[in-house]
Amino acid sequence: GAPPDSDLVDEAIQDAYDRSVDTDDGKVADYIPILAKVDPELFGISVVENDGSKHGVGDVDHAFTIQSISKAFVWALACEELGPEKLLEVIGVNNTGLAFDSVMAIELNDGHPMNPMANAGALASTALIPGKTADDQWERILDGFSRFAGRQLEVDADVYESESAHNQRNQGIAHLLESYGRIDSDPLEVVDIYTKQCSLLVTATDLAVMGATLAHGGVNPVTGVQVVSDEVCHDTLAVLAASGLYQKSGEWLFNIGLPGKSGVTGGIMTVAPGKGGIATFSPRLDNAGNSIRGQRATAYLSRRLGLDLFASS
Ligand code: GLN
Repeated sequence: GAPPDSDLVDEAIQDAYDRSVDTDDGKVADYIPILAKVDPELFGISVVENDGSKHGVGDVDHAFTIQSISKAFVWALACEELGPEKLLEVIGVNNTGLAFDSVMAIELNDGHPMNPMANAGALASTALIPGKTADDQWERILDGFSRFAGRQLEVDADVYESESAHNQRNQGIAHLLESYGRIDSDPLEVVDIYTKQCSLLVTATDLAVMGATLAHGGVNPVTGVQVVSDEVCHDTLAVLAASGLYQKSGEWLFNIGLPGKSGVTGGIMTVAPGKGGIATFSPRLDNAGNSIRGQRATAYLSRRLGLDLFASS
């Protein structure tokens, strides 16, 4: 259908906010001490349309680390560089049905990561980013993310440091992938780049612009810059539909009918292909690691704005 009228979007996000702000279910991520300090009441909803217009309510300018949402963009950048066949072969595009940091998922599939939106597959995606050195790979990721956001992004040094001191599990996953031949560079360097990409600071507005870029054939609707190809957007959104909300991706697709990606700091980026990007930020999470207010607000918006891809009308 046609994109929704601009005033309707403003009203809809205010209603989505009002209907979601009263829940205090869930708890904030506390796997590293610094994240547990976040104000759990922060809440923002941002929509960026494919014509570049921006709508926001609440804490849309509060910066938080992107965490798992980075997996979508590193996969897109790797796909742009290497093509989908390579990523299908090395990583795959299926949901594992297991938690994002699962080691069992690797073992159950003979060392094949399967899911690029869980840690094993995300580490393998990061390893595929071209570059002579780890620094070159990182520069390419930072540059690509900044083009998706339309501004220069930066790492939160404190979160990066804290994550680096507590990422033994990801180190273990990377070593396991190396043993199965799924990573062919230094696994600890791969984990370090991955930890940096997770520590990039974004706002809900940034995430909505990044999502709108995926909704708009890879052209950032604010800057006009082509970041990735149209085909890469299609492939990335298909991956998100299958696995963007961890082991709850089926429920998400059932309720919301759009590709999305969540992260443990409480962001959810959702893409309405051909229309725009939606981002919510609220730190309290369900047991899979998905923001509770974010899911509620996005479900409301999808219905109210007629965005569900599976609806006949
Ligand atoms: N830094 C986190 C990790 O890799 C991010 C995971 C997430 O957002 N689910 O463990």
